[in-house]
Amino acid sequence: MAERSIPLIDHRQAAARPAVPRDAPAPDGLMTDRRGRLLRDLRISVTDRCNFRCSYCMPKEVFDKDHRFLPHAELLSFEEITRLARVFTLHGVRKLRLTGGEPLLRKNLEILIGQLSQLRTPDGEPLDLTLTTNASLLARKAQALKDAGLQRITVSLDALDDAVFRRMNDVDFPVAEVLEGIEAAAKVGLAPIKVNMVVKRGTNDQEIVPMARFFRDNFGGAVVLRFIEYMDVGITNGWRMDEVLPSAQVVARIHEHFALRALEASAPGETAERWGYEDGRGEVGVISSVTQAFCGDCNRARLSTEGKLYLCLFGHRGHDLRTLIRDPAGYTDLQIAAAIGQVWQGRDDRYSELRGSAAGELAAAAKVEMSYIGG
Ligand code: SAM
Ligand code: SF4
Ligand code: SF4
Repeated sequence: MAERSIPLIDHRQAAARPAVPRDAPAPDGLMTDRRGRLLRDLRISVTDRCNFRCSYCMPKEVFDKDHRFLPHAELLSFEEITRLARVFTLHGVRKLRLTGGEPLLRKNLEILIGQLSQLRTPDGEPLDLTLTTNASLLARKAQALKDAGLQRITVSLDALDDAVFRRMNDVDFPVAEVLEGIEAAAKVGLAPIKVNMVVKRGTNDQEIVPMARFFRDNFGGAVVLRFIEYMDVGITNGWRMDEVLPSAQVVARIHEHFALRALEASAPGETAERWGYEDGRGEVGVISSVTQAFCGDCNRARLSTEGKLYLCLFGHRGHDLRTLIRDPAGYTDLQIAAAIGQVWQGRDDRYSELRGSAAGELAAAAKVEMSYIGG
């Protein structure tokens, strides 16, 4: 078989430092981008490293021993992350999600969680603080995360069948340990727990119904299972449309076994479409990033491990906030907020809506890797 050669674009260099505007109005939480979208959700990548090599995210042939991960000095410190998160709250951010890479690999993460859990919105409300993990270290860390102030958690699990899962994570990691992690999270009250399954047609779609059955029958309804359409994030995963199983088919397959009915969305900008079991035994969600773009109310920004702001999961150019906060000029929070505000106001991203069009093709050529900015 011919060797697969996949170019990896190094986005870590390609970022401009945002300008600090002079007379920006004070942030009021109502700032919108060029498509009228508010800023409400910040996803923070705390590491670009991972102990899994899921083929759809960090394929082994690209993220191998020669891949240069960010050196520690390049990462934002916990104080810098917390400061930026606080500045984002001034613009209306209400929800923080820690991600990566694998966030639980970041040393002393509990300290960061402790700091973030102290943040308040301008109205004095605590933020919604959560984390997405592959759960490989969760059984060990659940209690410390809860004690530090984490409220809930999302676990990624692509199959219950051990052989399928080991193949997909590509490091031979067993399902049983992920389930132990989920159990530990449930026990310490990190709830509600969401479990995300990326569906790849021909790879794990036979696992849809067993996964639905398992999470209906276990954990006393504490787990909400969500099916994610396999996305063309980055350029290394060799994405093909014929490997995407549309969410409508996921719902239809489950409905054949357990009757479902559509539920109301839980919040504006929520990515998952919710389906409840007719017999009242919980719900499932589907995230249709490919077949039903939801850019229209996308209120999410992403902060990379070394402090670059991305306005879209499929972005190709970050805005270098680290340089801004480390500038010898010593900018105040309000000045940083003004700079971020100007960036957000210029946002026009809607990659999922453009996918397949000429403009989408152009954007697709240089997308950032998901393991770098997080999901
Ligand atoms: N390592 C953590 C984990 O796997 O949960 C957090 C980071 S991971 C990049 C965040 C989420 O992105 C995971 O739920 C993962 O399944 C999802 N993801 C990664 N690549 C994807 C792709 N090509 N399509 C859809 N989802 C993807
Ligand atoms: Fe690692 Fe998560 Fe990417 Fe899998 S999806 S390779 S666990 S970062
Ligand atoms: Fe938001 Fe970009 Fe995804 Fe559209 S493609 S929903 S703008 S992250």
